[in-house]
Amino acid sequence: MDSVSARDILKNYLLEKNLRPTRERFLLLDEILKMNGHFDADQVYANLSKKKLKASRATVYNTLDLLVNCGLISRYRFGENHSRYEKAFGRPRHDHMICLECGDILEFLTPKLEAIQNEVCRDKDFHPHNSTLQIFGICSRCSSRKKS
Ligand SMILES: [Zn+2]
Ligand SMILES: [Zn+2]
Repeated sequence: MDSVSARDILKNYLLEKNLRPTRERFLLLDEILKMNGHFDADQVYANLSKKKLKASRATVYNTLDLLVNCGLISRYRFGENHSRYEKAFGRPRHDHMICLECGDILEFLTPKLEAIQNEVCRDKDFHPHNSTLQIFGICSRCSSRKKS
């Protein structure tokens, strides 16, 4: 059911932008929405090749951009030299903690932070689309390994 309405969102977006609703774009949408966690373009490409689905790297990047623009996925920079994506469709906004040792990405959601953000935006008459707070540091696993 999820992917039906995600397809509608993409279809409307393509129509609005006068872009062709090619079969390939919808196929990539389905595959990208199946990806778990915080993935990068290379992982999407590798996943497609594994399934013997043919799409060029350019098409993968292109489709990722499209899906970010229509709000179905989010793009982040977690202090690396490339972008990471995650499914946004049907998921609540959340924040991230990134371990500088092992690269683990932890998700968290704090209503208090949410309330502060909304308040700040209201004060500035700013209409937020999306946001994420990124906290870089050392995760509990890595810090306990260091101690022992
Ligand atoms: Zn760690
Ligand atoms: Zn996340």
